[in-house]
Amino acid sequence: MEEQMVENTSTQAPTQASSAGRKDIFEKCASYEEANRVRQLGVYPYFRSIEETRGNEVVCDGKTKVMIGSNNYLGLAQDPRVIEAACEAARKYGSGCTGSRFLNGNIRLHEQLEEELANFLQKEAVLLFSTGFFANQGALATLLEEGDAILCDRENHASILDGCRQSAAKTIPFAHNSADALRRRLARLPETAGKLLIVDGVFSMSGDIVDLPAMTKVAKEYGCRIYVDEAHALGVLGPKGEGTVHHFGMNQDVDLVMGTFSKSLGSMGGFVAGPEYVIDYLRHKARCFMFTASLAPAVAGGVLKALQILRSEPELMEPLWKNTRKMHEGFKSLGFKIGTTQTPIVPILIGSEVKAFMFAQKLYEEGIFATPAVFPAVRYGEAIIRTSYMATHTEQELDYVLETFGRLGREMGIFDDEAYTGGTKRNGYDFSSPKQQDAEAVRSATGENSSN
Ligand code: PMP
Repeated sequence: MEEQMVENTSTQAPTQASSAGRKDIFEKCASYEEANRVRQLGVYPYFRSIEETRGNEVVCDGKTKVMIGSNNYLGLAQDPRVIEAACEAARKYGSGCTGSRFLNGNIRLHEQLEEELANFLQKEAVLLFSTGFFANQGALATLLEEGDAILCDRENHASILDGCRQSAAKTIPFAHNSADALRRRLARLPETAGKLLIVDGVFSMSGDIVDLPAMTKVAKEYGCRIYVDEAHALGVLGPKGEGTVHHFGMNQDVDLVMGTFSKSLGSMGGFVAGPEYVIDYLRHKARCFMFTASLAPAVAGGVLKALQILRSEPELMEPLWKNTRKMHEGFKSLGFKIGTTQTPIVPILIGSEVKAFMFAQKLYEEGIFATPAVFPAVRYGEAIIRTSYMATHTEQELDYVLETFGRLGREMGIFDDEAYTGGTKRNGYDFSSPKQQDAEAVRSATGENSSN
């Protein structure tokens, strides 16, 4: 019996294994076709291999592209001072910490980064996590218990949703950025239940800013704790780039702030900031803090330097906002819909899924790197090209982006898509459709050459 099991887990095709009436867990992988269908169309936009990064430009397939799909808002990922600090940390502590903070992997740099972040955010304490994803997962799964309720904006990031799922609490989604919807949900909960409101400060797809004053007011009426994910707000909003909470001057009202180093601070890793007694609890209970290796020295050293630069040069944010305003205005005057964005994240409505893939491919061929977001990341038939801007983009680069979007938009009939004309029937190509021949139809309908 044991021998048989060993055989089944190796190379047998799913159909053979399942023919015995058993479920093969690989069956779904063997029948997964969506990605291949997009590849066959020659418009697969993901996992593009970057051969070199030069600030705002990257080299792919030997050609230079303007990067408008990165979260490197302040350009600090390429700042020589940050790179030197990362190298210095690696020289001092080695290439990795080879263990968890809890045991052998706690270096002075981690502590210094926590202290400086706490000071910057004006919170009592900070706990670093190896990614922002882990920070959300760790905090939510650890702090929320059975009988508790998590009030979760419907557009919150996937790491928040996964954290909610991992906790024993009940997750209660509410309509995006609606304090009224939040109130209706809270009003139905038992007084005695522990409650947490969790929101993105800046929403990662739509680029809009949470209505923190209204949300906080409602949450407080119901004795609900407040947690804000500042991933896209750090280095972008607030007088010194401290994030949404400081932008609204509401630091005293928000219990916990989460952030990531993978965007404005140009590296990777995440953190949760709040009262010392809560952070200390997480330090000793959050499994994805305790049972994973700590941030590599180069990462901690680079992030610390990036933070110090942001603190001493908040004017770094000025060109970011100048570029942001230019792109908001530019896209709108070309006739594109950019939703409710208020930040450097600018989602360009395209409409059907296939057009979004085609559009991204054409952009790429014209030297612009940006990726589409399609259903289920956005509503079906309302696919977007998610663009985001940096302080370091030049006028010339941004003008080129606008000119290219405008021209392709007209050529590809974007403004006639039902997403623009307001029709109810969506003409999106359903990539989950089992019809192979549709690929050819899509190619010819969009005039795309099948050899692409
Ligand atoms: N929260 C939000 C709102 C995000 O956009 C992201 C990353 N896209 C994360 C958390 C996770 O951060 P990280 O990349 O550091 O894992």
